[in-house]
Amino acid sequence: MTMGTAMGMAPAIELRELSFHYPDGSEALSRVSLSISPGECVALVGPNGAGKSTILLHLNGLLPDGAPSKGAVLIAGRVVDKASLPAIRKSVGLLFQDADDQIFCASVAEDVGFGPRQFGEPESRIEEIVRASLARVGLGGFERRSPQRLSAGEKRRVCLAGVLACDPAVLALDEPTSTLDPRGRRELINLLARIPATRVIATHDLEMVLDLCPRTILLDQGQVVADGPSEEILDNEALMLAHGLERPHSLLHRHPHR
Ligand code: ADP
Repeated sequence: MTMGTAMGMAPAIELRELSFHYPDGSEALSRVSLSISPGECVALVGPNGAGKSTILLHLNGLLPDGAPSKGAVLIAGRVVDKASLPAIRKSVGLLFQDADDQIFCASVAEDVGFGPRQFGEPESRIEEIVRASLARVGLGGFERRSPQRLSAGEKRRVCLAGVLACDPAVLALDEPTSTLDPRGRRELINLLARIPATRVIATHDLEMVLDLCPRTILLDQGQVVADGPSEEILDNEALMLAHGLERPHSLLHRHPHR
């Protein structure tokens, strides 16, 4: 099914009892079910190894060969499988945790234009798309630079520009603030707050979560352990500590006696 159901619009993202083992046998996801509505901005939090990146990879079908998943992933009501992959790749933009996994062209302009070209944008529009996407991430004028010679934070922004250039309905971002300086981080948060796409953000930046994401999904050992309003989950000290996290400082100031 590709259209909305009789009950209304299909969820932007739905995982149904998704389980996954990496080829070496380690279990990364165990019966994960969740549903995210169009336009939501949701944080995925949890300790290292909880399964956050593995979920994001599933959203656009980037799975290692020979390691079949159980359950299902649906994007806008459409099951992610071999037949739907080309369409899914266009509608889900994934920002990798490591920018070096995502940058492979000789110039910033080529790199940012790669996705739109791949998806058939006419050549006459590419230059403008690249220019506008770079401006959105604060890298106006970087077109001719070599991505390999940029700082880690700048590389990250180039990758984000490349994702935004494809105008995806779903943005899946893995640790988007991890290499940014405070100003870059603030600008990224402001940018993400204004984007109407459905956003799923795997992160340890819990202050960003409080600023940006009304909803948080807490994962540990490949399972969903909590899913609800961000402030409620992040303010639950016992829950946070039990899963290797800390209650964010700003909440300590807001609710000092809890
Ligand atoms: P997170 O993003 O929350 O840190 P991951 O999704 O990266 O968690 O990892 C989930 C589990 O899968 C961990 O146990 C991790 O060691 C394992 N894992 C991740 N990537 C690979 C891989 N390429 N090969 C084998 N195991 C992996």
